[in-house]
Amino acid sequence: MTRLVMKFGGTSMADLERIRRAARIVAAEASRGKKIAVVVSAMAGKTNELVAWTDGAGGPGEGVALSDDEYDVVVASGEQVTAGLLALTLRNMGLNARSWMGWQIPIITDDAHGKARIEDVPGEVLGAAVDAGEIAVVPGFQGVTQGGRITTLGRGGSDTSAVAVAAAMNCPCDIYTDVDGVYTTDPRIESKARRLARVSYEEMLEMASLGAKVLQTRSVELAMSQRVPVRVLSSFIEPDADGVLPEQGGTLICDEEEIVEKRIVSGVTMSRDEARISLIGLSDRVDAPADVFTRLAEAGVNVDMIVQSQSRSEGAVNLTFTTGRRDAQRAAELMRAAQTEIGFEELRVDEDVAKVSVVGVGMRSHAGVAQTMFKALADKGVKFQAISTSEIKISVLIDAAYAELAVRALHSAYGLEAV
Ligand code: ASP
Ligand code: MG
Repeated sequence: MTRLVMKFGGTSMADLERIRRAARIVAAEASRGKKIAVVVSAMAGKTNELVAWTDGAGGPGEGVALSDDEYDVVVASGEQVTAGLLALTLRNMGLNARSWMGWQIPIITDDAHGKARIEDVPGEVLGAAVDAGEIAVVPGFQGVTQGGRITTLGRGGSDTSAVAVAAAMNCPCDIYTDVDGVYTTDPRIESKARRLARVSYEEMLEMASLGAKVLQTRSVELAMSQRVPVRVLSSFIEPDADGVLPEQGGTLICDEEEIVEKRIVSGVTMSRDEARISLIGLSDRVDAPADVFTRLAEAGVNVDMIVQSQSRSEGAVNLTFTTGRRDAQRAAELMRAAQTEIGFEELRVDEDVAKVSVVGVGMRSHAGVAQTMFKALADKGVKFQAISTSEIKISVLIDAAYAELAVRALHSAYGLEAV
């Protein structure tokens, strides 16, 4: 008796025909004896529409607390619809299915409405239902507070719901989506991008947070901490006449030790969701940077890359940092408002930048990774404005106009092309 969580995203739930196809895929797994819980997203575009309605109703926004619990009541509804529709469809195919809302399981979260974190998912009731032969259909994205209010997990949160349900039921998680796996880079930028058969949790975590859009970052964190094996698979498949699914490679996200293929770099990612802010002629007082970053931290602005360089003016430096684009204006306003107190001459904000990164666990034990990167960029005449590194990634900030060129150059420099 093996349990399985299957997750279908918004494009796989986009209309009744797609829902029927998802149901056929679920039925195929059930006929192989799998005990299944399905986690679903809202129909593609639905959550955006619901969010727009809450904007129209005046919140969250002016006069309304940023994290409003009624916002969640509205936006969580998209997943309720698809969960019910999929359960109905499965029943009409003669299968035993029922939906389980977040509050019925319950998927307990904190009360950070709009971006709640899962605290606990008791797996006993759901596990027992599934073991008894029922297909449980769970709306992704939604949870409930200890106090009984509906919450949502942040955009893209259904992936996290799926992993949390899999962790609670102690089983693997198959994510059916509109791509057939995780690629060495975005195939729309580099047609020679290759599907990775396996990728480690750590690499996937970096790739997701650096711009690869396959999975919500938090879902990878959760899979890593709970050791849930996650497979990314295409939902654009059909079971054959006997109801058997075609073999799909997909990508398995797993422990590093389970990966036999040895490679130094696994992927190249690119994100345009960056903004660069420079404080020109910042006083070189020893506590000036601390002052700047304290103000940003207190306002909840996340800073990524930081560079300090000599300024033309005597006794001054230039301090450059990057933030997500969403935070850039707020960060700039904070700096402007405190210009005299902090003490700098000029503020520059540039949103025409992109962050290009190479990721791979092999970097830990190999020299020359940075050298290859800088040589490849130099050969194409791409200048970088900032650098940041971790044990398993190197990121550079460059002019957005060169982003795709840089991705292709790096993909080839590390020999990632399909052979
Ligand atoms: N429907 C939600 C969203 O669009 C959650 C999800 O699909 O993962 O963000
Ligand atoms: Mg998604």
